[in-house]
Amino acid sequence: MNAKLNQVLLHKKSCVGANLSAWLHQQGQKGLEKALKNHEDIISVIKTAGLRGLGGSGFPTHVKWTAIAQQPNNTDKYLICNGNEDEPGTYKDRILLRKTPHQLIEGALIMALSAKINHIIFYINPDLGECISTMNQAVAQWQVHELFARCCDSVGKPINLTVLPSSGHYIGGEETAAIETVEGKYPFPRRKPPYPSQAGVNQCPTVINNVETLCNVAHILKNGSQWYQNLGLGHACGTKIYTLTGDVLHPGSYELPMGTPLSELINVYGGGMLLNKKFKAVFTGGPSNTLLTAKDFDVPLDFESVAKRRSSLGTGAMIVVSEGTGIVKRVAEYVNFFAQSSCGQCPPCKTGTYYISRLLNKIDTGEGRTEDLEQLVNLCHILPGSGRCGLIDGAVKVLESSLDHFGHEYRQALRVT
Ligand code: SF4
Repeated sequence: MNAKLNQVLLHKKSCVGANLSAWLHQQGQKGLEKALKNHEDIISVIKTAGLRGLGGSGFPTHVKWTAIAQQPNNTDKYLICNGNEDEPGTYKDRILLRKTPHQLIEGALIMALSAKINHIIFYINPDLGECISTMNQAVAQWQVHELFARCCDSVGKPINLTVLPSSGHYIGGEETAAIETVEGKYPFPRRKPPYPSQAGVNQCPTVINNVETLCNVAHILKNGSQWYQNLGLGHACGTKIYTLTGDVLHPGSYELPMGTPLSELINVYGGGMLLNKKFKAVFTGGPSNTLLTAKDFDVPLDFESVAKRRSSLGTGAMIVVSEGTGIVKRVAEYVNFFAQSSCGQCPPCKTGTYYISRLLNKIDTGEGRTEDLEQLVNLCHILPGSGRCGLIDGAVKVLESSLDHFGHEYRQALRVT
């Protein structure tokens, strides 16, 4: 997919590439200046704004920041800016990294001021070479700027800015797997507790924030909490970058008010369904969630509203499926992706995802029998919660949901004799 931001709302995320002077001129340095003057207030401003984790979790940002701010300041503290972005259908962070690196760095510095963080790591998928080189150029400009020196003074020690290629695996984006990668190890997710805020990189307090989340921070400090709240629709705050792919006329990444209805995203921004076909379903937030179907076409795309439909907004990726497109094949592809992405630490995940994938491929190619379908249903009951991280739950969720909504397609695909 051609990764470009098709809609920049209110010019909140203007694109000036790696030119720091242009960025500071455009922004007037106001976000960081305000943070430097009142660093004790940063977290409460973020709290009032209602900023949440935009990488998929939707977790209130201020809670994570408070947890690390409360840790003693006489130790190293780490911020990992998560740009691993390896999930099918998600193409937002790479645009922000390439087009607006200073927006991210300024947000990360403000976060560092709020909790006295002295290591900031931009953790970027190694396949995104252009993003890595842009970030390296942008970081080099900050390191010699007087604003950066003032940030170090405020934190009370030198701040290390590092651009680090991530593991590149899907699982490398999981918080504790990212910590392992930063420590130079294979990205095996860790058991929690301890949580990263207590013992993360090198056993030091660590916070992990997604690129899109941090890109909002300088604007919130500059324009105020109320401004950010008002950008959202209904009870939702701020904006979201929705990545629209699949059977629509104009796929792309669209930054829109949080809470924009799915129907508006598809019909107005996506130009409607491809070949005027009817909408059938959407894989929301990447392919690891419960499917939304035609009855959900008007759902507001915010964390609460999507959760009420028993799904999740996730990363904001929306993979649209039209009538006439087989669900079994799509689910088989996604589960196969999860099977290949399993790190193999937990036997139920390693063998379970592989086995589900095999059964799905068998049914999709017309070789499945009734007992194969029964096994799939059984596995949906047995496997959830059996892994150290959420990968296996995601694989089961999309399978179970497709069985609930489109079970007839599975039954029709079975071998008759
Ligand atoms: Fe690895 Fe799967 Fe266990 Fe997650 S659930 S730690 S991906 S084996």
